[in-house]
Amino acid sequence: MPPPLELHLDDIVQTRKPHPCGGDTWRIVRLGAEIGIKCERCGRRVLLPRAEFERRIKRFVARGPAGPA
Ligand SMILES: [Zn+2]
Repeated sequence: MPPPLELHLDDIVQTRKPHPCGGDTWRIVRLGAEIGIKCERCGRRVLLPRAEFERRIKRFVARGPAGPA
């Protein structure tokens, strides 16, 4: 098992599959058992179980203020 991914509020992530609106970057807006992400293009919020969210991530675009520099 890989270690859990470190996530912070306001991290920006790119997903493997784009949102139907065409956007593929998301801002993390909620942390917990479910991860809340907000589409940077259309502003839609989605809640995903953490494991599901981790599978969708392609890369980190930017880290939030609490993240590594
Ligand atoms: Zn969208």
